[in-house]
Parts: sequence; C-alpha cells; structure tokens
Amino acid sequence: KSYLADSKRYDSMTYKRTGNSGVMLPAISLGLWHNFGFVDSIQNGRDIIRTAFDLGITHFDLANNYGPPFGSAEENFGTILKNDFKAYRDELFIATKAGYDMWPGPYGNLGSRKYLISSLDQSLKRMGLDYVDVFYHHRPDPDTPLEETMGALADIVRQGKALYAGISNYEPKETQQAAAILKRLNVPFILHQARYSMLDRWVEDGLLNTLEENGVGCIAFSPLAQGMLTDKYLNGIPENSRAAKNATYLDTETVSSNIEKVQKLNEIAEKRGQKLSQMAIAWILRQKQVASVLVGASSSNQLKDNVQALDNLSFSNEELNAIEKIIS
Ligand code: NDP
Repeated sequence: KSYLADSKRYDSMTYKRTGNSGVMLPAISLGLWHNFGFVDSIQNGRDIIRTAFDLGITHFDLANNYGPPFGSAEENFGTILKNDFKAYRDELFIATKAGYDMWPGPYGNLGSRKYLISSLDQSLKRMGLDYVDVFYHHRPDPDTPLEETMGALADIVRQGKALYAGISNYEPKETQQAAAILKRLNVPFILHQARYSMLDRWVEDGLLNTLEENGVGCIAFSPLAQGMLTDKYLNGIPENSRAAKNATYLDTETVSSNIEKVQKLNEIAEKRGQKLSQMAIAWILRQKQVASVLVGASSSNQLKDNVQALDNLSFSNEELNAIEKIIS
C-alpha cells in the first residue's frame, strides 16, 4: 500500500535548534542501529519509519555498519525511502557515519581520508541518495592526524555529499581541536553525537560546555540505556528484548546490576504520571545544549510511547534532587 504522510505531522512535535546553526531537529529522533538489518523484518522497520514521520520525526540516524550484516540498515532504509518517501526527501534530515570496522583490510576502519570518503560513497549508493544531511566521524582515531580526518569531512561537504559535518564519541579536548580545524576550514560543524542517559552522564563533565562554547549541538544516543530505562526489565528479562538476544551490546548482567536504580526511578516517573522511558527522555531534554534525543525502537508502539515524553518536560527541584540521589 502506498504511503501518504499524515497532514498533521508537524502539529505537535517540538523542534530545537542545533548549536548556532540554521538546523532545527525534532526533540526526538530515530536511530537505526538495531531492528533495521537484514536479520530483522523490513515490514516492521517500514512501519516504524512511517510512524516516526507521521509524528513529526524528521531526523533519521544511520551508520555504515548498522545491521547486521554491516550496511544492511542503510540498504533497508534506502528501500523504504524509495517506496514510501520519494516525495519527502526535502523534509528529511538523514545522517550516516564512518569510523568503526566496516570492511576488511587497512582502509575499512578508523579515520583516514581513504576510509571516510569511500565509505560515504558506499553509504549513498546503499541508501539511494545523492547526499546525506550530516556525515559524522563515528569515533576518534588516535593514530590518524585530526587534520586529515577533519580535512576529509571538509571535502565531503564541499563536494556536496553531506550538507553538514559531525563527530561522535570525541572527548572534550579532541572536540575542541576538531572544532578549531573545522572552523578554519569553514565547514559547518553542527552536531556531536554522544551517549547520554541517567545511567551514563559523562557528557556533563566538560563536553556539553565545550559544545556550547563552539556553537555545536549535542544529540544524545542510547537515552534509554538500550531499554534499561523503561518498564521492560522491571520484572526480569523478557524474551525478545535486546538483553535477551545474543550479539547485542546489552548483556543480562548489566541489566541486573542496574535494576535497583531503575525500580526507584520508575517510582518517581509514576508519581509524575509518566512512564520511566518518558521521564528518561525528558530528563535529557532539560539540558539546553541537547538538540535532540536519539532513541531506538523495536516497534512503532514504543516510538509512540516515547514521543509522549514531550507532554511533560518540566521537573520540580524536588524531583530532580530525588533523581540525583538515585543516580549519583
Ligand atoms: P535507546 O536507549 O533508546 O534504546 C532503544 C531500545 O530500547 C529499543 O530498541 C527497545 O529495545 C527499547 N525501547 C525503546 N522504547 C521503549 C519503550 N517505550 N518501552 C520499552 N522498551 C523500549 O537507544 P539505542 O541504544 O537504540 O540507540 C539509539 C540510536 O543512537 C541508535 O539507533 C543509533 O542511531 C545511535 N547510536 C549511536 C552510537 C554512536 O557511537 N554514535 C552508539 C549507539 C547508538 P527492545 O529491542 O528490547 O524492545
């Protein structure tokens, strides 16, 4: 069945400016790290993407190696774009990345110009796109000069293969250095993608300030700590959850070791009349440097649930203190 986007799709989503740029991002964006590979159901993936766009989610986050297998999330996304979103390309803000292991040999990993430029060319082919909106270096590479990696991002932008540049997982000091190089090269550097949740607050230790000083926005990944900050693990580990599957980055021990905190946080969320997942998202959005919270979803209902976080974004000092006591 052909897809016609909901005509009310822009009525209730909140859009936030990323850094000092001209780009507005939805407060909640969707990532395709899990649930979009050839191992997954593309019908389900298609349902999630349609639901997202109907809710006003314009930003979709990919990477060369999302799947599994590597590349398959981009290929499936390309298929969905071709079938459903031909008319909507200019309403979408699409990201991809390179930086982790992608293909064999010395040119399919890390931060060389050789890797970044050929990887993006592959990504564009898989997605059937002429350009992406933002291209990220996915993680710092201590052995490649930052000048080379940032120079590659700059040329990618000049060639029109990406409209904006971004980095991910860089520490504050490396971020500052990257920002200085990109500024000198006149490249619009608009986003830093970093892990941030109530269970992982490393960005509060300098990175958010560095980003603000440089006019760069933060987009927070794994805001639900891969599902731990939801009600799904409150009574054990359900089948079909990310933690129950092999070959994911969430193991059952991590879930067990956090469950006490999660149960206490859930009580606060209940008092707020919100689900824990919604409170976890709202808690991140209170930071002014955060342009968007980048969630994952294994079903369209999860995504609908998560977007309702926007119905209650404010916290009393009492609530913030109670949360602080649990997580610090
Ligand atoms: P989340 O912390 O949002 O975890 C998403 C998972 O939580 C879902 O797949 C689902 O898992 C579960 N979940 C989501 N909503 C609900 C709900 N309402 N109720 C119950 N369970 C729910 O984010 P991710 O870890 O998936 O990361 C999000 C995105 O961030 C990625 O897709 C990717 O784009 C990006 N990312 C970037 C990285 C980087 O290095 N730059 C690294 C990691 C992620 P389940 O399968 O159990 O249902």
